Amino acid sequence: MGDVPIFDDLKRIGHDRVTTIGMGTWGIGGYESPDYSRDGEGIKVLRHGLELGVNLIDTAEFYGAGHSEELVGEAIKGFEREYIFIISKVWPTHFDSESAKKAARGSIKRLGTYIDLYLLHWPVDDFRRIEETLHALEELVDEGLIRYIGVSNFDLELLRKSQEVMRKYEIVANEVKYSLRDRWPETTGLLDYMKREKIALIAYTPLEKGALTRNKCLAEIGKRYEKSSAQVALNYLIWEENVVAIPKAGSKVHLEENFGAMGWRLSREDREKARRCV
Ligand code: NAP
Repeated sequence: MGDVPIFDDLKRIGHDRVTTIGMGTWGIGGYESPDYSRDGEGIKVLRHGLELGVNLIDTAEFYGAGHSEELVGEAIKGFEREYIFIISKVWPTHFDSESAKKAARGSIKRLGTYIDLYLLHWPVDDFRRIEETLHALEELVDEGLIRYIGVSNFDLELLRKSQEVMRKYEIVANEVKYSLRDRWPETTGLLDYMKREKIALIAYTPLEKGALTRNKCLAEIGKRYEKSSAQVALNYLIWEENVVAIPKAGSKVHLEENFGAMGWRLSREDREKARRCV
C-alpha cells in the first residue's frame, strides 16, 4: 500500500482511545457455527492489524458459536493487553442476570482475558429483560470482568430508555449498522443524540459487505486524495466526531486498504458528493 498508515487517528470510547478503524470478526472462525478450516489465516490477519497499530477488535459470543472469540484470544497473545480494546457481545437468549453473567464468563474464557466493552447484541421486545441484563453488566464491571457497558442495534428511543435505568455506570457505545448506503443513524437523529451524549457510534457493515469497495463514483472522489472507494466509504463515517467503523477484512491486503481510511478527511463538499454516489 506504499505509505505506512497513520494511526494517531483516535476516538474516545469511555475514557479509552481507540483507532477510528477497527477489525470486525464476523466470519473469522465461522458464522453461526464454528469453522476451523481457516484459523491460521484469521489469526494472521488480526495479528497483522495489531502489528500495524490498530487496537480495536469487535467480536461476539454468537460469532462462530464462540470460535471467533477463541481466535481473537490467540491473535492477541504477545501484544500488550492494555493497548488493545476488545468488544464482545451477549446474545439475547442470555438476557437475564444469571445467563448474562455466565455468557460473559464464557466469552472471557475463550478470549483468555477481560472484555473492554460488553454489548447487548440485539434488543428484545420485553424491556424488563434488557434492564435486568444491563444491571448484571454493572455487576460485571464491579467484578472487573468487563470495563464498559454498551448496546447494539438500539434505536434512539431504546437507547434513551436504557440510559435511564443504569444505576452506576453509563452506556458508552451503541454499535449499529451505518454505511454510506444506510444512513439511518443520521436521518433518525440517533447520531446527533449520541454525539451530544458523548456516546460512541460503532459502525458495522460499513462497506455493505464489500459492495461499497466497487463503487466507481466513490473511486472518482477518492482520486483527489489518492484513496480508493473503500477508503472513501469508511472515511465518510469516521468523519463524524464520535464514529468508529469496524469493517471485516479477510486478508492483509483488504485490512491495509481499510486502515488507509485513517489519517485524513474528505472535504465537506466531497462528503456531500459521496452521499449522491450510492
Ligand atoms: P463489511 O465490513 O461491510 O464487509 C465485509 C466484506 O467486505 C467481506 O466480504 C470482505 O471481504 C469485504 N471487504 C473488506 N474490506 C475490503 C476491501 N478493502 N476491498 C474489497 N472487499 C473488502 O460487513 P460485516 O462483516 O457485516 O461488518 C463488519 C463487522 O461488523 C463484522 O465483522 C462484525 O464484527 C460487526 N457486525 C456487528 C453486527 C451487530 O449486530 N452488532 C452485525 C453485523 C456485523 P474479505 O473477507 O475477502 O476481506
